[in-house]
Amino acid sequence: MTNPIDILYETNILDERMRKHISGYYQHRGEKALEIVDHDRVKRYRDFFVVVGESGEYVVEGNYCSCESFLHRGNICAHVLAVYIARATGRYELIDLWYYQDLKEQGVNPYRIQTNI
Ligand SMILES: [Zn+2]
Repeated sequence: MTNPIDILYETNILDERMRKHISGYYQHRGEKALEIVDHDRVKRYRDFFVVVGESGEYVVEGNYCSCESFLHRGNICAHVLAVYIARATGRYELIDLWYYQDLKEQGVNPYRIQTNI
């Protein structure tokens, strides 16, 4: 089966058929990724994409994600998938700030966040 993300980058259309393809191909992770995009939980900063998860924000860069699931299993996680879908469809919130700058403004110490970057 062709990777649905490859098709989505060509068509840029997230319709019912594409949704079924994504959840069929990626199973639970695919469904979770679609839910993230549907709830507008993907943000694009100047430096990174950030996904708002259930227990915090995750930094996604390319195929890398700062979440536990990614670090432990090393597999593509729902957050990385959500960013792929968001990029292909343009469905993300554009924030004209550096992510670390935004964290500082929110009073969060960016150096305490584990990103491994
Ligand atoms: Zn993740």
